Amino acid sequence: MATVQEMRERLRRPLAAELAGGCHDRVVAGGVERLLASPLASPFPQVREKLGGYAALGGPERAEALGAALALLDAAEKKAGDRGPRPRAQATRTAPPQAAPGERLPLDAETARLDTGPGGARKLATLGLHTLRDVLHAYPHRHEDRRALPDLSEVEEGQKVTVSGQVVSKHRRSPKPGMQILEIVLETPSGGRVRASWFNQPWVERQLKEGARLVLTGRVKKFGRSVQLGVEHLETVDGAQDSLSTGRIVGVYDSKEGISQEFLRRAAHKALQAAPPGDYLPIHWRQKYGVTDLGDALWGIHLPGDEAHLSRATARLRFDEYLFLELRMLLQGEDAVLQGKRFEARGEDIHTFEGALPFRFTNAQRRVLLEITDDMRSDRQMARLVQGDVGSGKTAVAACALYLAVRDGYQGALMAPTEILARQHYANLVGYLGQLDVRVGLLIGAMTPKAKLEMQTRIAQGDVDVVVGTQALIQENVQFDHLGLAVVDEEHRFGVQQRRRLLKSRPDVLVMSATPIPRSLALTAYGDLELSIIDELPPGRTPVETKLIQDTHRAQAYGFVMRQIREGRQAFVVTALIEENENLELLAATQLADDLKVLLPEARVDLLHGKMSAAEKDHVMERFRAREFDVLVSTTVIEVGVDVPNASVMVIENAERFGLAQLHQLRGRVGRGSAKSYCVLVAGEHSKKTRQRLKIIEGSTDGFVIAEADLKLRGPGELRGTRQSGIPDLRLADLANDAEIIEQARELAKHILAHDPRLEHPRLGYLRAELQSRSQSVAFREVI
Ligand code: ADP
Ligand code: MG
Repeated sequence: MATVQEMRERLRRPLAAELAGGCHDRVVAGGVERLLASPLASPFPQVREKLGGYAALGGPERAEALGAALALLDAAEKKAGDRGPRPRAQATRTAPPQAAPGERLPLDAETARLDTGPGGARKLATLGLHTLRDVLHAYPHRHEDRRALPDLSEVEEGQKVTVSGQVVSKHRRSPKPGMQILEIVLETPSGGRVRASWFNQPWVERQLKEGARLVLTGRVKKFGRSVQLGVEHLETVDGAQDSLSTGRIVGVYDSKEGISQEFLRRAAHKALQAAPPGDYLPIHWRQKYGVTDLGDALWGIHLPGDEAHLSRATARLRFDEYLFLELRMLLQGEDAVLQGKRFEARGEDIHTFEGALPFRFTNAQRRVLLEITDDMRSDRQMARLVQGDVGSGKTAVAACALYLAVRDGYQGALMAPTEILARQHYANLVGYLGQLDVRVGLLIGAMTPKAKLEMQTRIAQGDVDVVVGTQALIQENVQFDHLGLAVVDEEHRFGVQQRRRLLKSRPDVLVMSATPIPRSLALTAYGDLELSIIDELPPGRTPVETKLIQDTHRAQAYGFVMRQIREGRQAFVVTALIEENENLELLAATQLADDLKVLLPEARVDLLHGKMSAAEKDHVMERFRAREFDVLVSTTVIEVGVDVPNASVMVIENAERFGLAQLHQLRGRVGRGSAKSYCVLVAGEHSKKTRQRLKIIEGSTDGFVIAEADLKLRGPGELRGTRQSGIPDLRLADLANDAEIIEQARELAKHILAHDPRLEHPRLGYLRAELQSRSQSVAFREVI
């Protein structure tokens, strides 16, 4: 007969294992309830009670119940322990061992438990991936078909291909100043030879040792029988471990220098093997909405068997993103209809404001202003997004709303994503409001502590009517005397969560954004924001003249830039985003700036890049505005709204690598002054389709037209990253194309909450757990 102590231990072990194994009720033969029914559990009635009905519980309830049961057993043992030696040597808090082959791990298991090789967990942590869940949900941002590597004798001019092989030779040449070509010869396993070249990307050279094994993707150019590749993507393959990188459809991940694609594929593979089975979407819903199960989807996004697998995986994971976003919005929605400020927003004040302007509002501005004043006059808290192209006059409208708030005795705030934008808005608001006796203040990090304190005090005492600053500064450090209206510029850079935090202080909120989003989707994308659109530019603008050229004509483009500079103008030159690597991006920009110093010897050239601190960036921009130099070379960090009216040319290098929305945004940096402005898109190797896309930009300056045309040209199955959507929860989303999925996800979310408003039913335990994890997981959080 076992002692009570032994029985306790025999009960404790399987329960602990069940908890560690992810609560799937599979650790104990016959299930946990069977164990409880056995005589082993009879000395522990409280434990029986805690775990009653275990099989019917959802994952989180199971975990909670197990935790409680184990605590009871431990407490009982402590008591007993006084009477004798403890039989067990337990170390629950030491580092978890790596999972044995075939062993399942809970989703929250640390990556250290995956066998990802030496330093693997550390590498993953560098990318912000700490748990199994993080790895599984760090989806590739695109995929490449490497199943049948083509026979070199059959590839066609312009075709995009992937080849693998070994570097047999390399050399670099510089046919003229500012132009560098790096060329290698790659020998494929079948003995074929390909020339691969890189134009003006000298940093690539480091990876190209003779004998190195590479996988290259790019476009084919044929010279007689010789095949040349304009490389778009390069991977080095170490050792013989290349099974996940060739011969299949492979995912390409966001990464950093020193972390190879192969490593990430391998980590994903391990995580998939170790992941617990099970799905938070019950089968009847999966059937109803025609989505595959979660396991299939996760395998399919990381290591798809074929195109069909990839597309059903994407469909499912997208569906989930929208579903969880909808659920969160709806769950938070309870407090969404908040009591806000009630303004009078008098018509005569609008007249006064407009009378003081050097122009008349456009019809679109007038309509939007009416929508805003309606909101302001109601008791409800305003949460409205004003969307309009760059220069459509959003700020002027916001200034009017702020004026109305001030006339009603409230304070207003205008928040910008960066200091330089804050300064710019400040100057604008002083222009609009200064003459109307409104006291406008500025609050930015660059101010001295004394000046900041002084401003904070004045705001707190109500001696300032409207304060302009960066969002962080205003949110954290300002006690308003009576804040009535907050205007937030460029919402998508902050994310929905921050906006909600801000909303808690209950001013009316107006958000301005230049990102075009179809009306039907605004609700989902921005939660509960109402949408107003300014779809008309002020009269008399001369549209930016845009020209698409091939990079072989680059020198001509810069000749044109030089002529503009001689006329006293300034120019922006933007380099392409380099996929997966910000260090390389910096190198590219530096290199380009050096090239331009050679190409444009008379011009003063300076550089702006993403590795600079905010203060450094502001400083460069200030100097550019002050015309201390002529050409600003920059990576894509040029701030969205920065105004340099004297800049009349923008050159975008490697334009084929940008999305249309981004090109449109970038182009909006010029054409802000009275001078005629130009945008030159310099395209490297690209396909016909890309050319069509770029032609859209050349042909139109209307953001809405561009978004629409872009949508028509894009195939339905194309994967896009959220770099495009700009919304943290939506990484697979393609807002422009997902209308139907969004409707379905919304329908399901509403259905779920209609029956179970707080997601309490045990059957929904997994779903709730997933919702919670997504709200907390780095993989789903925006890193600003
Ligand atoms: P946005 O904030 O949408 O980029 P702004 O409000 O900053 O646009 O306006 C861009 C420029 O156009 C500013 O110089 C502004 O003074 C001017 N502007 C705004 N509305 C009008 C209008 N109705 N007519 C003429 N110019 C306008
Ligand atoms: Mg603006």
